[in-house]
Amino acid sequence: MARSAERRDHLRGATPESSCAMKQHRTFLPLLLAVAGCVAGCRPSKPGPDPNDVFRVAPTHPVAELLPVALKSTPPAESGDFRPADLVELTVLDSTIELDIRYATSRNLLGTPLYSQSRAFMQRPAAEALVRVQRSLQADGYGLLVYDAYRPWYVTKVFWDAVPPSLHRFVADPATGSRHNRGCAVDLTLYDLKTGRAASMPSLYDETTERAYPNYAGGTAEQRRLRDLLRRHMEAEGFAVYQFEWWHFDYHDWSAYAIQNARFEDL
Ligand SMILES: [Zn+2]
Repeated sequence: MARSAERRDHLRGATPESSCAMKQHRTFLPLLLAVAGCVAGCRPSKPGPDPNDVFRVAPTHPVAELLPVALKSTPPAESGDFRPADLVELTVLDSTIELDIRYATSRNLLGTPLYSQSRAFMQRPAAEALVRVQRSLQADGYGLLVYDAYRPWYVTKVFWDAVPPSLHRFVADPATGSRHNRGCAVDLTLYDLKTGRAASMPSLYDETTERAYPNYAGGTAEQRRLRDLLRRHMEAEGFAVYQFEWWHFDYHDWSAYAIQNARFEDL
């Protein structure tokens, strides 16, 4: 994994994240924004945030120290009658699905790569549904650009261990895992089939502000149209949008799969 120490130099002051690494309870947004210095993503701008901006949080410990510990840790034991894991690579099913795997780069919450490979996997029924979304979007001139899909449990643990306890309410608890850990959640946006460019949406990916809410009324009419277009196509194939993040969708069968911890390189 490319998690070199020099990456830590980029970890300055905190900025809100994201994500799906972060979750729920956006009512504490003011606290988060107070703790985290906002970069350009928070400046008022007419057309919307610059998609190149990234929210970050200063880790409590260097990620380079947390990763080996997380890799040696064991996911929570779950009881239940789960389906066997069948994680498939999205771009193998459909090569027109584009990837921008932020956690394989330093352009993410912790400012350092957490994956050693830029790949995206989902459980087969979810992956096949996503391919149907990709095909149905063609008529509207768009394709899917995936930020993150299956996320090994150890990455969820790193997020938890790296984020200050005061911000724990924003990250998934490794004791219960996240739907990304089950291979049934995906973070994504649209790209224009003609230009190849990511669509401008009302907020950044992984932005922890109300602009990220799927029903946010601000931004431009075109941004809202595209956000709603994505949601409509996803819902038609069995995905549900997360109430605080227009980019996060759960496949309806998520509870049928157990938490997984395999690294991309082992799939
Ligand atoms: Zn997510």
